[in-house]
Amino acid sequence: MSFPKNLALDGAFSSSSTRISRSRGAILWAYLVPIFTLHLLAILAVAPWLFSWAGVVALLVGIHVYGNLGINLCYHRLLTHRSFAVPKWLEYTLATFALCCMQDTPTRWVATHRLHHNHSDEEGDPHSPLDDFVWSHIGWLFRKSPAVHDIAVYQKYARDLLSDPFYFFLEKRPYWVGIVYFAHAAVYFLAGLVAGRWYSGDWPAGLQLGASLVVWGVIVRTVAVWHITWSVNSLTHTFGYRNYATSENSRNNWLVALVSAGEGWHNNHHQDPASASVQHRWWEFDLTYYTIQALAALGLASRVTPPRHIRREERG
Ligand SMILES: [Zn+2]
Ligand SMILES: [Zn+2]
Repeated sequence: MSFPKNLALDGAFSSSSTRISRSRGAILWAYLVPIFTLHLLAILAVAPWLFSWAGVVALLVGIHVYGNLGINLCYHRLLTHRSFAVPKWLEYTLATFALCCMQDTPTRWVATHRLHHNHSDEEGDPHSPLDDFVWSHIGWLFRKSPAVHDIAVYQKYARDLLSDPFYFFLEKRPYWVGIVYFAHAAVYFLAGLVAGRWYSGDWPAGLQLGASLVVWGVIVRTVAVWHITWSVNSLTHTFGYRNYATSENSRNNWLVALVSAGEGWHNNHHQDPASASVQHRWWEFDLTYYTIQALAALGLASRVTPPRHIRREERG
């Protein structure tokens, strides 16, 4: 699978230290309403009746399964950069985990991120902190931009996704992101209801556990994964150190790397976006890459792209 020709993933980018223009287009209510609503609902987590340790475990496991495997491993390294390949059944399973994060369709996510690599911190970057920090973290999600939200952009930057029947289906019917999200929340509720009823013998206990799993394991987790993903756009283009003098402002940020299973080594990633690994020093731990290696050891991942210096050696 090849990238669009104009996607200079291995190239340098023109530098920019000034503010860049951003879209002030119409408000995207379809993004603003669910993001605002789930942030409000997440406050329910402070209610003692809705607390359970099972909910906390569901939150932590969910951040890894949906956020790290769904978004970081699948949407980012697999679908956007094609830094490795997996069997279709596994790719679609991981993409379904990503749908449970309410972070848009695979095609739009991939097109937006390839746009970011193609125009990092310059005119055309969908979410540069050079506009302002809040814009890069969350503001850009709420404004329609013809340079981002357009089928011609998806065709230009994510043609490979649109030629896949599953991703094409989701692009034609994006409301399925919402259906999948509500369906998985219902599974959490029913699992808690049945387990609570079985464990304590009464339905109110089941209701409490089901509600707790939805609040902690679905709503708080969704909000947490949102902010982790958005931090890669905002924090790692603002705070951290640089191993490479890349011509955008990407940074290596240990805190973001810790919560995102490696994605915070973002300066390394911009220096070598094609590589499946972003670990360039021994202590820049990249859990996502070790997961890819584990999949490869199980025979479930192939064509794992090595770091650039090894690619050069292989080319001779
Ligand atoms: Zn970046
Ligand atoms: Zn990337």
